[in-house]
Amino acid sequence: MAEAPLWRGDGSVRCYVGLGSNLDDPILQVRRGLTALAALPDTMVVQPSSLYRSPPMGPPGQPDYVNAVCALATRLPAPRLLAHLQGIEDRHGRVRGPVRWGPRILDLDLLLYGDAELPGPDLTVPHPGLAERAFVLYPLLEIAPDLEVPILGPIASLIRNCPIAGLEKIG
Ligand code: ATP
Ligand code: MG
Ligand code: MG
Repeated sequence: MAEAPLWRGDGSVRCYVGLGSNLDDPILQVRRGLTALAALPDTMVVQPSSLYRSPPMGPPGQPDYVNAVCALATRLPAPRLLAHLQGIEDRHGRVRGPVRWGPRILDLDLLLYGDAELPGPDLTVPHPGLAERAFVLYPLLEIAPDLEVPILGPIASLIRNCPIAGLEKIG
């Protein structure tokens, strides 16, 4: 994986964000999400993955998702970073409905924050769905094939236990 050109050795943390959308031109929404990540303070984009199309995980009858992951180098503490991610979701018109995993214009999840293990309900890292989600694991494998996921182990092992389940790379 490419290394961040700045901040190496000065306290930045390598983290990974998962992006997803299935409303209002999802490809455009995910691209806009990546652009917004690049504008975060004290943060640099290290490497975005390709975009992927995936069947919906939540209630049936909703459109397919477009997903990606992005590696960042950040000096923001994890809760600040999550607050920024939620701010981006809000500015993109995310409406938080009552249905878990219902359709959404943009979802930004903090998948990993360095080797941190954070158990709180407002911020769980590694992200609790990571090991079961092809739309997270396969893009992570693309950009970080040697990644060691805290608690869970090497990305390559996680992939072996996660069927690709209709995930397709776009373009
Ligand atoms: P999932 O987290 O299973 O992918 P979701 O992304 O649809 O579901 P959201 O509605 O985006 O869930 O977020 C619900 C809550 O999850 C938020 O209030 C947030 O505080 C909390 N949360 C806990 N850990 C994380 C994390 N690692 N990344 C993003 N949100 C998190
Ligand atoms: Mg999510
Ligand atoms: Mg979320």
